[in-house]
Amino acid sequence: MSEEHSGLSVSLSQLKLAAKKLGLDYGIQKMLSQPKRSISVSIDIRLDNGSVGVFNGIRVQHWDARGPFKGGIRFYQDITVDEVTALAMLMTWKCAIADIPFGGAKGGVCVNAKKLSKHELERITRRYVSLIFEYLGPQRDIPAPDLYTDAQTMAWVMDTYSQLKGYRIPESATGKPVEIGGSWGRTEATGRGVIHCIKQAAENNGLRLKNASVVIQGFGNVGYHAAIAANEIGCKIVAVSDSTGGIYCPDGLNPMNVLAHKEETMTVQNYKGCKNLTNEELLEIKCDILIPAALENQITGKNADKINTHMIAEAANGPTTPEADKILFEKEICLIPDILANSGGVTVSYFEWVQNLTREQWPLELVNQKLETKMTKAFNDVEAIVAKEESDMRTGALMLGVGRVAKAIKTLGLWP
Ligand code: NAD
Repeated sequence: MSEEHSGLSVSLSQLKLAAKKLGLDYGIQKMLSQPKRSISVSIDIRLDNGSVGVFNGIRVQHWDARGPFKGGIRFYQDITVDEVTALAMLMTWKCAIADIPFGGAKGGVCVNAKKLSKHELERITRRYVSLIFEYLGPQRDIPAPDLYTDAQTMAWVMDTYSQLKGYRIPESATGKPVEIGGSWGRTEATGRGVIHCIKQAAENNGLRLKNASVVIQGFGNVGYHAAIAANEIGCKIVAVSDSTGGIYCPDGLNPMNVLAHKEETMTVQNYKGCKNLTNEELLEIKCDILIPAALENQITGKNADKINTHMIAEAANGPTTPEADKILFEKEICLIPDILANSGGVTVSYFEWVQNLTREQWPLELVNQKLETKMTKAFNDVEAIVAKEESDMRTGALMLGVGRVAKAIKTLGLWP
């Protein structure tokens, strides 16, 4: 299996490693190696030109020992069941590390969202939800946004679920617009959470954040908000990129102005005063902090040696391959793993679910304060294991996540 196509096998070997280090019962390891449910559906919709479009949809529910399944839905043309399963497994560990009462799930639709109209995407979303409806619900499985899905998509998910039930159920999806029950701060949460982890790691590693240079791959929801939050604490964003390529400006970029340029021209490239560069070149820029915030398998055995940074915070899911992990560890680069670094999104999703269940709306300040408390606690819980085991942070985080889920399974026992 090639390095670039090893999502599920990587997740399984990570589980095996954590299980070995934890001395886990083999039966529990076997249970955690499989998702509890994997659903594949065919989504047939009428396209705007009158023809029929058929798209594959997937929902994988990994484990729910600590609470209802929780995980994003991504629209991405090359999605596979194995990849979605690996991502669902990561969600199980992530929710446990963040210590929120959810299990792990993930969904995907094989579609190039950029090639469809808003109406077509709405029809795909609603049809997809109707096909997996009986397995969703606020106490069963709660979707959230992911790659190429957003607050609007979640509004359609929640509305479709509510229409089929016959009454309004805001707690059936998170990451919704604020006016229909979304939480203040949810859109920014993943990016902000990444920066909370960087602050903790910088403190532990003696890295000064004032004027620290930051490179961000991916300028979508997570990348953009990580840039804003990094700017707020005095870091300098020297390079960003999107699927079309990147831009580099050693004096620093204003993320809001770059976003305005991207909205106008559909690309971050050709921004005034910046040098255009490829995504490969961007990853190799000398910087203090590198934030991959786009796709899987971006830092591999092929380019890890050329990475020139003190710290990597994995905002994206699975951006570093195991081969690259080893090289980066030898280079003594501090790597904050995805299951910890990007858990801010699901943490505020949990806050949104709680607010919906209690029909409350918390002010932004309260949400941000609770997010910081949760992220700092999760970071320190992982660091405590890292110190005890003398391991890298990914292994420490996995031990924390897998250990908590295994404990819940053991306590619940097997039925019947
Ligand atoms: P998004 O769709 O808003 O943005 C994705 C960005 O990546 C876009 O700027 C896109 O142009 C860029 N991109 C796509 N292909 C690229 C490539 N080959 N090279 C460089 N850039 C590329 O998605 P998002 O919500 O920001 O998610 C980004 C990552 O963060 C994903 O891995 C996702 O699973 C992860 N994540 C997201 C959340 C969340 O709350 N949105 C939470 C946890 C993890």
